[in-house]
Amino acid sequence: MRRESKRAKTRRTLLTGAGFGLAAGVLVTFVAARTVIERQEEELAAENAQLKQANEELALQAVKVDAVTDSAELLAGDSDGWCLALVNEGHPLDTEYTPAELTEIDSERSVDSRIAESLQNMLDDGAASGLSMYVASAYRSYDKQRDVFNSTMQDWISRGYTPLNAYDETKKSVAVPGASEHATGLAVDIISSEYEELDDRQGDTDEQKWLMEHCWEYGFILRYPEEKADITGIIYEPWHYRYVGEEAAKEITEQGVTLEEYILGQ
Ligand SMILES: [Zn+2]
Repeated sequence: MRRESKRAKTRRTLLTGAGFGLAAGVLVTFVAARTVIERQEEELAAENAQLKQANEELALQAVKVDAVTDSAELLAGDSDGWCLALVNEGHPLDTEYTPAELTEIDSERSVDSRIAESLQNMLDDGAASGLSMYVASAYRSYDKQRDVFNSTMQDWISRGYTPLNAYDETKKSVAVPGASEHATGLAVDIISSEYEELDDRQGDTDEQKWLMEHCWEYGFILRYPEEKADITGIIYEPWHYRYVGEEAAKEITEQGVTLEEYILGQ
């Protein structure tokens, strides 16, 4: 048997050591590389999430611009923010606009079909809570709105108001034709069966208290809150609910703002 020379043995040991060292080194490098890749993936995911959020914010901004500049087109389209159209005296709705599809709530009242299910769920849940309420007014065409406005104005004139004062007085409770949300098919007047007057006290009924607390869960907001008449241009209407979609309804409610403030960023 040939004895391994001392030199050869040392050389073999060194080579083995180097081999292990190399393997360990590769392993360490591999683990380190994997950690780096994982971190990069995490960073990428975070960046993606940020980009996605930025994109969503941009899309919402675009919708908000459309909500003001071309509400009829926004309403007629199928973008996510179709239900955010801002309609008020300063931002009238195209008088030609009619919802593409209406769904009957009862024999006399209809809403834009896209909100029918949410509205029905809200009414059903309210009824299941022992409350009694009904939709007194829903979609109103431009022509119908003009009739309502004119007859209310006539009432004021017959009470002795000048036409100009009657016009101003009417405007406080009835939207000027073209400025009514009822023409969108997304607004409803809901009143308590226990108290059917359309005045401030309507807001004290159990039905309105329930609606004000829960309507956002169904995508609705109380459109003309108390103390906000200077912003909305409409007196406190504790019966007028407007569909804006669940996400916006939640944000608007949490922020305690009106649709004007939400859209225009006032
Ligand atoms: Zn109304």
